[in-house]
Amino acid sequence: MSDDTITREYPGEQLIVEWRQGLCAHSGNCVRSNPRVFNPRRSPWIQTEQATDDEIRASVSQCPSGALRVRERTDAS
Ligand code: SF4
Repeated sequence: MSDDTITREYPGEQLIVEWRQGLCAHSGNCVRSNPRVFNPRRSPWIQTEQATDDEIRASVSQCPSGALRVRERTDAS
């Protein structure tokens, strides 16, 4: 399995958060940015319903490694 494999996907309203465990540098930026959405002591550790899509995008942009990425949902209205 390459590092670039998507470990899991977390759908939000208009977006999907992609998580690549193999790329995570454990910087904690995501948790510091929004601990309601990103909490590794909880399952699932990413809960997109805890914030708006814009807030999620802002947090994902803090990820230094590319472990977190966002793509647009094509099935959302
Ligand atoms: S910000 Fe990215 S690299 Fe840092 S802990 Fe979160 S997912 Fe991992």
